[in-house]
Amino acid sequence: MARKIVLKKVGVHNLKQVDLSLDPNQLIVFTGVSGSGKTSLAFDTIYVEGQRRYIESLSTFARRHLGDMARPEAELIEGISPTIAIEQKTAGRNPRSSVGTMTGIYDFLRILYARIGIPHCPVSGEEVAPQSMEQILHQIQKLPEKAKIIVLAPFAKGKKGEFKEEFAELLRKGYTRVRLDGEIIEITDDIAIDGKKAHDLDLVIDRLVVREEDRTRLTEAVTQGLEAGEGLVSILHVETGREQLFSEHAYSPKSGLSYGPLEPRDFSFNHPSGMCPKCQGLGSLLEFDEEKIIDPEKSISEDCCSVASSYHTVRFGNIFDNLARLYKFSVKIPWKKLSDEARKVFLHGTKKKWIKMRFIHPVKRQSWTEYVQWRGVLHEARRRYQEASSDSYRRKMEELMEESVCPSCQGARIRPYPAATTFKGKTLPQVTALSIEKALSFFEKMQLNKEEKLIAEEVVKEIRQRLFFLSDVGLHYLSMERTAPTLSGGESQRVRLASQIGSGLSKATYVLDEPSIGLHPRDNRKLLASLRALCDRGNTVIVIEHDEETILAADHIVDVGPYAGKFGGEILVSGDLQTLLKNPDSVTAEYLTGKKKIPIPKKRRKREKKAIEIVGAKHHNLKDASVKIPLEMLVAVTG
Ligand SMILES: [Zn+2]
Repeated sequence: MARKIVLKKVGVHNLKQVDLSLDPNQLIVFTGVSGSGKTSLAFDTIYVEGQRRYIESLSTFARRHLGDMARPEAELIEGISPTIAIEQKTAGRNPRSSVGTMTGIYDFLRILYARIGIPHCPVSGEEVAPQSMEQILHQIQKLPEKAKIIVLAPFAKGKKGEFKEEFAELLRKGYTRVRLDGEIIEITDDIAIDGKKAHDLDLVIDRLVVREEDRTRLTEAVTQGLEAGEGLVSILHVETGREQLFSEHAYSPKSGLSYGPLEPRDFSFNHPSGMCPKCQGLGSLLEFDEEKIIDPEKSISEDCCSVASSYHTVRFGNIFDNLARLYKFSVKIPWKKLSDEARKVFLHGTKKKWIKMRFIHPVKRQSWTEYVQWRGVLHEARRRYQEASSDSYRRKMEELMEESVCPSCQGARIRPYPAATTFKGKTLPQVTALSIEKALSFFEKMQLNKEEKLIAEEVVKEIRQRLFFLSDVGLHYLSMERTAPTLSGGESQRVRLASQIGSGLSKATYVLDEPSIGLHPRDNRKLLASLRALCDRGNTVIVIEHDEETILAADHIVDVGPYAGKFGGEILVSGDLQTLLKNPDSVTAEYLTGKKKIPIPKKRRKREKKAIEIVGAKHHNLKDASVKIPLEMLVAVTG
């Protein structure tokens, strides 16, 4: 049994030397009017002391790095277990972190897709099949008796050339026949091949009739074929013309593309082997918006582009003059009169890699030549943006940019081959785009076969459980792909809460501030059940909350008050609901018993005609929503 939390004579902020004793493993609500001191008690005393003790337990080396924390002002604090704060703050600006990665679900999905996903060729869309030589031989043993077959090994696909040297080499190795562009021919000295055309060439390994007594010959031919074909061999059925291709790698016969094995890291948009190279795994590209950075009335010599280096610097003045001379335009005419080519050269650079440029110093008049690789002012500006250390500078640049979906991965964030891998008919990007609710039902409905169960049953269980926790804290509408910067403070708090429940930690003290904010009463009940689940695992949960339902559900209520600031700072009630309701000084009790309430106004404002009209909104999960919001009124948006 964990120990009681005991606080004596706490004087943090406005708290007036209060004493408090709390039982462990309970759901405890700290309530009271705003500014009464409940946050000082929960966060600035209990949480801070938990952190301080944790740091104190570390080595001196670690402590030196973290710095010592001040002890909260109190005579005695004991029974504090490791404390974890789950605050209402945004999850940060890092787009590399998503609901999926924050909860660890994405890690399990990566394992799932790498282990039992079905790789598809992103070009042909068909399944690719990695097979071991044994598997291939096993399949070939199933060929029907008396079937006439030819065992072929691919030698070249879509390759230009006359293959003269290759044929000589093949003859030396003992091959006598090849299949050239679908036709089986004998290798002779006088094969004439159009060297300018692309050809398909296969080696004929053996021609045979499948017979029980000849099975070893078949096995030998296939083994030899796999060796010659570097892991690829095909069986041509002479009578039907049907051809079966077997590959030791993942191979798509339709596109002719082979692929390597897939590892979990290949599904990560934060790992070089997985991330889309075009957008670096972000799924979108930030590009400068030409309308925002160009003043069409100004010329290049008047610095018409706000993100370009000035024409009045020695270096760029010379570069722009050289470009003008080479591409025959003037730096002195307004941008709107420049040709498309001139604009392109200025913004996006020259196709030619290195250009010899003549530089003249405008004052000293000396001259020199330099080879310049001109990649355009946008490239220069992008580099300045990427290398900038100042956040405010980056934000200013971002205001001039437009975000667009990456044309290479279409927002999938990972490379095409892993992105095309399916599990029960869905690709990984498709699964992460589902709402938590739909993803949960997908993972609950799908069936694993015997072999899949062996490999992935545990992984699927983890995924289901975590999705369940997310749905339980009222986030059923979010998708796993949603990135941290797009979450509200309340949403990211609940995502963190869900991952804490998933972590299975026990004997900890959790401190949360107003987790009910923004939640519909229906989802609030689910949230309460989640908090309860944390307690059931042997944790103590302290929640700062005004919400009535949460107060009613608590095991223990601490009411701080009676009013704000110096008129608060006292503990009015520390006990169960009945104790709170009986307290004559508690403002909270007055509202709970209905003695005080927020009156429904008798008179309403008259509706003005003025309104904000939103038509066809599609942001996040909005489905073409249209709404009129009247102005000059108090408007509630609920759901
Ligand atoms: Zn991309």
